[in-house]
Amino acid sequence: LLGPDGSLGVTIFEEITTLAARHGAINLGQGFPDEDGPAELGRMAQDAIAAGHNQYAPGKGLLSLRTAVAEHQERFYGLTPDPETEIIISTGATEAIASAVLSLTGPGDEVLTFEPFYDSYGAMIGLSGARHTTAALLAPDFMPDLATLEDSFSPRTKMVIINNPHNPTGAVFPEAVLTEVVRLAIKYDAVILTDEVYEHLTFGPRHIPVATLPGAADRTLTISSAGKTFSYTGWKVGWLSGPAELVAAARTVKQFLTYSSGTPFQSAIAAGLRMDEQFFTGAAATLARKRDILAEGLRAAGLDVYLPQGTYFINADTSALGITDATALARRLPELVGVAAIPVPVFCHPEGARRTRSLLRFAFCKKEALLEQAAERLATLK
Ligand code: PMP
Ligand code: GLN
Repeated sequence: LLGPDGSLGVTIFEEITTLAARHGAINLGQGFPDEDGPAELGRMAQDAIAAGHNQYAPGKGLLSLRTAVAEHQERFYGLTPDPETEIIISTGATEAIASAVLSLTGPGDEVLTFEPFYDSYGAMIGLSGARHTTAALLAPDFMPDLATLEDSFSPRTKMVIINNPHNPTGAVFPEAVLTEVVRLAIKYDAVILTDEVYEHLTFGPRHIPVATLPGAADRTLTISSAGKTFSYTGWKVGWLSGPAELVAAARTVKQFLTYSSGTPFQSAIAAGLRMDEQFFTGAAATLARKRDILAEGLRAAGLDVYLPQGTYFINADTSALGITDATALARRLPELVGVAAIPVPVFCHPEGARRTRSLLRFAFCKKEALLEQAAERLATLK
């Protein structure tokens, strides 16, 4: 958790967001929408506050939200978790990740992630004392090499973390990839932790929850979050579901992290999860248009674009502009052209960082006019 010089590190999201604010730059770094989600959910949270729902929620989360999570999983995926024993509500996906990793892994264990990996996995594996091993996702489609994936597993592999759809690359893993991960997790007796916070944000391919695959359910903990699906990232409502004994283990840690949080937001999100099909498909379609606008703008600015199949993010290669160090560029970009982006190497260990050294991640969950303006500014890099 220390910076390269031994100082206390801040996350890359905080660092870049601070730089963006300092230089008045368009912030395509940290992934948060610049418009609120459904207004009726906002009103429900306000009504819940006005009605006095302002004290601690139960440690497991409000029963109404746990029930809504179960119904949502049944409606979309045919899964039937028990709201009493197989679901807990967390303070965002972040706390669910922390609870699962800290409760189930420790010194002597290995935890495998794909690389690039979302930053909190690395930090939590570090805190747990386990060894963090990685399997590379390779451009242009950011899929793992299935022929060699088993080389990343060992008898010490206690957990494999999948993030699908994948931040930062925008990859959406097909059934063949997920099935192979499940096969190897069974062979090496590893728990699967699957972070599916972008489950509804795919642009073409169908999202396949790992827990629906044969043999997976009894070793899989699934995480999601209202932040992405409903564009309320600041509410920090997330959840974790899976077999009762794994959920109970995660809860032992969760109760000492925050115990519980966000009572009025929890009841609003319960209503959100019951929204009709059109809301979910509409959100993805709107985001797909934004993706296309930013992709076009980045290409016009001379960058090579990897078109994502899901998430809020697009990866662009700066080497076409003669730039080889995207991390150095990201630190100067807000001042240089008035746009902020996240360097992909920060989501990697050293070898992966070399492989991705010229990649920048841009968030496109922003108003279309702002994306066009950002592209115009980036064009001045040429
Ligand atoms: N996992 C992934 C892959 C994410 O991208 C994020 C944040 N965008 C999180 C977890 C954290 O989600 P939350 O804000 O709900 O804690
Ligand atoms: N998940 C968000 C992203 O990838 C950032 C959340 C945070 O700042 N920790 O941009």
